[in-house]
Amino acid sequence: MTFMTENIALLSPAAYAEAVTAAVVASAAYYGDGTTALGDDEYDGLLRAIAAYEEAHPDEVLAQSPTGKVAGGAVQGDVPHSVPMLSLDNVFDADELAEWADGLERRLGHPVAGWCVEPKLDGLAVAARYRGGRLVQVLTRGDGLAGEDITHAADAVLGLPPNLTKPIDVELRGEVLLTTAQFEEANRIRLAHEATPFAHPRSGAAGTLRAKDRPYRIELTFFAYSAIGLNDLGHVALLENLAALGANTAASTDAAPMRCETVEQVQKRIDVIAGLRADLPFGIDGVVVKADTAEDQRQAGNGSRAPRWAVARKLAAEHKVTRLRAVQWNVGRTGIIAPRAVLEPVVIDGVTVTYATLHNPSDISRRGLMIGDQVFVYRAGDVIPRVEAPLVDQRTGAESPIVFPDVCPRCGDAIDTSEQRWRCVRGRNCQAVASVIYAAGRDQFDIEGLGGTRAIQLVEAGLVKDVADLFTLTREQLLGLERMGETSAA
Ligand SMILES: [Zn+2]
Repeated sequence: MTFMTENIALLSPAAYAEAVTAAVVASAAYYGDGTTALGDDEYDGLLRAIAAYEEAHPDEVLAQSPTGKVAGGAVQGDVPHSVPMLSLDNVFDADELAEWADGLERRLGHPVAGWCVEPKLDGLAVAARYRGGRLVQVLTRGDGLAGEDITHAADAVLGLPPNLTKPIDVELRGEVLLTTAQFEEANRIRLAHEATPFAHPRSGAAGTLRAKDRPYRIELTFFAYSAIGLNDLGHVALLENLAALGANTAASTDAAPMRCETVEQVQKRIDVIAGLRADLPFGIDGVVVKADTAEDQRQAGNGSRAPRWAVARKLAAEHKVTRLRAVQWNVGRTGIIAPRAVLEPVVIDGVTVTYATLHNPSDISRRGLMIGDQVFVYRAGDVIPRVEAPLVDQRTGAESPIVFPDVCPRCGDAIDTSEQRWRCVRGRNCQAVASVIYAAGRDQFDIEGLGGTRAIQLVEAGLVKDVADLFTLTREQLLGLERMGETSAA
């Protein structure tokens, strides 16, 4: 948020301190229960006066100032939240979840009147303040009590509309993240600008939200899941309202929030969302379970750190850091030459990962990988593990470049490097040629006269697709080949 600071009478230091306090109190009241003695104009006037003072006295900026600036102009997490942004308590398995649900029902003294189950998005929590339906300020979660003003980043956040469909005052809360597609695009853009690629989507989103003056634009996505100012709605109804206002919600995905009547249904829905994890267009690190009704939520209340009516059922991490030991070049059935990372074994979600895909040579170059690097490895569900990026600041100097092959590693012929994915010039015949040459060798079938040239000839004529075809070749087929005499055929 920027403020016009011309033509404003400068406050005295004491009046400045009073103005800061008044603005903080007004903001908290405004977003808390919607009551404030200050109108919009007065509030904005107060902020302008505060900003003018801070511009004239940059060394005297108070940490709690609503402008979000401290001495020297550096931005800190110092804009107070209207209502604290709490985190969630975690449970790690079905038993712990059942125990937590029992505890909540004991506290309420009656069964919970329905649950809401939704994916826990792996991004950054933000608060987006709307006045009259217009987006005026976006804050990070910070320490939960005060966050950093990141309004400058809002226009690159899809799903966070500059204007709601209704002219209301409301604070939307939700998660900003890089979807998988946005993450790939972000790293393409960063490498084109010779910037280090993001190690994984979460850190990429965090860096992007706080960055200023980048010479390029990276798009993010917002998912709303809460609001201050839309009271007395059950959680499922609240999400429907958020979507109707124009905000993006997880309802647009396969893992859409769902109301469940029993804890057994909750557990089943968690299993469904966990099973969808690998196919979702963004990362999740768990599943959030909430008492659905406003009445249950109010009655359960909040602890100092987390609400008592919601919990995060954590899922195992999908990203782990390990060392890139070597790169192997494997030639596929169609002649595609694919690099594969050999990793120091690492356990991700219960599975030991030793190999991961590196996609193609230009991808290796784009990511700036080196042998010996500490790398982020991603694995989810049945997806082939992949290396995402090196941790460049962890380098010791002992890393070495990845050497690209200059001939086909299987048959020794040339490589077609005109596409992103490299390919043996023999394509589908690469394997057949290589296997025929191998099979005809002295240590195998020892077939005289079947060397490289003949092998290529047989394969390219379509007579041999694999080694077994060698034994069903007829004399007539062989005689049909160029430079094939009676003796050779025999
Ligand atoms: Zn080849």
